[in-house]
Formats: sequence, structure tokens, C-alpha cells
Amino acid sequence: KKTNIHLEAEIIERIKAENEAKKALNKEKELNEMKSRFVSMASHEFRTPLSTILSSASLIARYTNTEDQEKRDKHIKRIKTNVSELTSILNEFLSLEKIDAGKMHVEIKELALNEYLKEMVSDLETITKDGQTIKSQLPDSEVMIKSDPQLLKQIITNLMSNAIKYSDIGSEIQMNVSHNGEKIYLAIKDQGMGIPEGDQKHLFDKFFRAHNSHHIQGTGLGLNIVKKYLELLDGDITFESVEGKGSTFTIILNK
Ligand code: ADP
Repeated sequence: KKTNIHLEAEIIERIKAENEAKKALNKEKELNEMKSRFVSMASHEFRTPLSTILSSASLIARYTNTEDQEKRDKHIKRIKTNVSELTSILNEFLSLEKIDAGKMHVEIKELALNEYLKEMVSDLETITKDGQTIKSQLPDSEVMIKSDPQLLKQIITNLMSNAIKYSDIGSEIQMNVSHNGEKIYLAIKDQGMGIPEGDQKHLFDKFFRAHNSHHIQGTGLGLNIVKKYLELLDGDITFESVEGKGSTFTIILNK
């Protein structure tokens, strides 16, 4: 009888070990898949900004007269925009790897939300398109929240840059903040292209891009990162969108 029990325990242990090995293998397979998808995505996404940088740089070298200053400035701006686009693609990938490896460090601090958001909005105004405006509606008095300022900044910046990127010149982007005893609701509303209904359920999937957005540069990683960061902060996100009309993304945070 005793040997039977031993045998049973041994079998259970072996099955457990096999399952663990399978899990590790799956994880490695998933990581490899992600790496190869990144390589193919990167080789595609990097081509346009890199050739823009190259052509702008050669043009700058040709504009040697003082009256060419305006043209030079235009190309310097294009170089800056494209370098920052490439940097953000790399940063997105690094963030995802870090989150998926469970290595993301969360550091909760007390934040004065209005002050924090005002500074962020003025930074974001520098990346709006021609005539685009950001209108923010913040609480009348300062609200204190406990959150990780770096992660929260990335969440809001990702959502705001999408609102800017997927909307036309001259449109308005709104940031509305409301709160109750426990929670903060931060809504980012745009008048942009919206998300086709059939695509909405996949929106937070890694690498997913809606069908109407393929002509615009993007990786499909931003919203996946936003969702994972919010999980780390014990927050949540919802959205509403009508194709051709606009989208509203609302993040919900604990105070
Ligand atoms: P990226 O913008 O780099 O493609 P995201 O993960 O941030 O990646 O977004 C995934 C997809 O969701 C985008 O490709 C786009 O199709 C859609 N999307 C996100 N935000 C908006 C928005 N504000 N308006 C319209 N479509 C959006």
C-alpha cells in the first residue's frame, strides 16, 4: 500500500514537472514569435522615417545660402519628428518586453493631478497637427492621487498621441477629468476617424491595428502597453468609438 502512495506521488510530481516545462516552452515560443514579428514590423516601419531623415539631411547640406533658412528649419523639424518616431517604436518594444518579463518596476507617489496634467498637456501641444487644439477640463480644486508618475505619463501620452494622430488637422481633442470619493475618470475624446465596430474587440491585442488606419504609421503596441500599465496600477480602461466620427478613451484610476 505504501509503495502505491509513493508511486502516485511520484507520478503527480512528474506530471507537474512536465506541465511546468511545457509552460516554459510555450512562453519561450511566444517570445520568439513576438521577436520575429517585431523584426518584420520594424523593418517595415523603420524604412519610411529613415529615408525621410536621410533625404532631409542631404537637402540641408545643399541649402547653403542664408535665404534657405526656412527650408532648412523645415527639414530639421522633419528629422526631429522622425527620430522621435523611431525612438518611440523602440521604447514601446522595450516596455513590452519588460512588462511581459514581470520586470516593470512600479513606484507609487502622491501626485497633484491638475498640476501634473497641465504640464503634460503643454508638452503634448508641441506635437499637435496644424490647427489642432487640446481643450482640458480639470477639477476646480486640486485632486491628490497615489500613482506611478512615469507609468501614468506614458498611459496618457499614448492615448493623447493616438487622439492627435488619428484625427485631422484643425480638430479638437478634449481631456475631461472627473472624480468621486474613490476614483478618477480621465476621458480623452477626439473627433477623428474612429474605430470600425468589427475591429473594436481586438483593439488592445498586441500588434493589432484597425483596418481604417493602415495608411498612418503605427505598431499596434501602444494600447496593449496602456492596458498592461493600468493593470499594474490597479486601474482600468474603456472606450467608445464611431467610425468616421471619433473616439473616447476613459481611464479609471484609484485615488
Ligand atoms: P498604433 O497607434 O501604434 O498603431 P495602438 O496600440 O496605440 O497602436 O493602437 C492600435 C490601433 O487602434 C491603431 O492602429 C488604430 O487603428 C486604433 N486606434 C487607437 N487609438 C485610436 C483613436 N484615437 N482613433 C482611431 N483609431 C485609434
